[in-house]
Amino acid sequence: MKILVINCGSSSLKYQLIDMTDQTVLAKGLGERIGIEGAIVTHETPGKEKHVVQKPMETHKEALEVVLESIVDPIVGAIVSLKEIDAVGHRVVHGGEEFASSVMITDSVIAAMEACSELAPLHNPANLIGIHACMELMPDVPMVGVFDTAYHQTMDKATYLYALPYELYEKHKIRRYGFHGTSHKYVAERAADMMGKPLSELKLITCHLGNGASVAAIQGGKVVDTSMGFTPLEGLVMGTRCGDMDPAIVTFLMEKENLSIAEVNALMNKQSGVLGISGVSSDFRDIEAAAAEGNERAELALAKFYLRVKKYIGAYMAIMGGVDGIVFTAGLGENSKIARAEICKGLTGLGIEIDNVKNDMRGKEAFIQTDDANVALMCIPTNEELMIAKDTLNLLKG
Ligand code: ADP
Repeated sequence: MKILVINCGSSSLKYQLIDMTDQTVLAKGLGERIGIEGAIVTHETPGKEKHVVQKPMETHKEALEVVLESIVDPIVGAIVSLKEIDAVGHRVVHGGEEFASSVMITDSVIAAMEACSELAPLHNPANLIGIHACMELMPDVPMVGVFDTAYHQTMDKATYLYALPYELYEKHKIRRYGFHGTSHKYVAERAADMMGKPLSELKLITCHLGNGASVAAIQGGKVVDTSMGFTPLEGLVMGTRCGDMDPAIVTFLMEKENLSIAEVNALMNKQSGVLGISGVSSDFRDIEAAAAEGNERAELALAKFYLRVKKYIGAYMAIMGGVDGIVFTAGLGENSKIARAEICKGLTGLGIEIDNVKNDMRGKEAFIQTDDANVALMCIPTNEELMIAKDTLNLLKG
């Protein structure tokens, strides 16, 4: 079974072709600057030379044509014919309340996805463009939609409601949804494998710490809470997003700084987080380097970031009545021993203790707790593409 995984952004297209018999990546690549000047597709088939195509690509369909040509190219390609592709799995950001799991894409599913676009105006329309392009170019291949929000649909109502007038939930579907679900699901399943226990018997806290960051509390394989909310702005401090704050700041700022709705939105999403506090960068590598040289605002940004993750870990332990394992994943979680150590610092009283020798590694699956700690601490590289391919395969098998 060969499955093509597609992740379309507004001007980008990421893809992987995965052979599900042994989960190997047959080919992968990235299309960028679609619809703007300088469009480019970079294609890689392991063991072959990297293939770069630079030509005007006005639409995602044109970019996808380049991708499909590259995949079957006799020199740089991975397969002989497109007929070898059994299904396409599409990443879709928002599934609203409509989708609690991955689905086979049909006309009615597309209509429901379009209805969700209002909740993710920057992402869902791009995901849909990718789906339409694939349907045109591969009309006979089954398509599956995998939603970032779906895994979190198990949260109960008291958790997902905001304390706003209830009618606003009914009228506008204003509630907490959560994001990064595919990543949280993947690492939770891997954690259960690593721990040698069924997921149904575990209490896990999964920390997806990348440019965007979120934490999830997963009990018995079901998400009971997660830090992102109505949009991916809530929760942790992130690269450029402020995360949790007093909502009264929004109107205060609009008045004092004379900001429009768009400006205050950009301020919270693009100019805040560790970038806003440090003034150095949104990239944790730059901030760690500046902090190591004694930059106080870089130190402050990191301290704020670690503290917020710690608060969520404590809160989720309280919600679940304890925790068996904590997972660190995504760019920072997988690669930064400093971040993992700082987040776990001072939690020995809760059974959480990191082993500095075991923690001295990056980018691979490992247990990093001390021998006598009660709580398993794990570094697990996420693999959202593989999770999408797995869901696609499961639906295909019926
Ligand atoms: P996203 O997918 O949300 O863009 P990633 O999961 O790729 O984000 O994570 C990106 C973040 O991970 C960046 O801030 C980057 O600095 C950080 N990161 C990557 N490698 C390292 C490293 N070796 N040390 C510290 N931070 C790292």
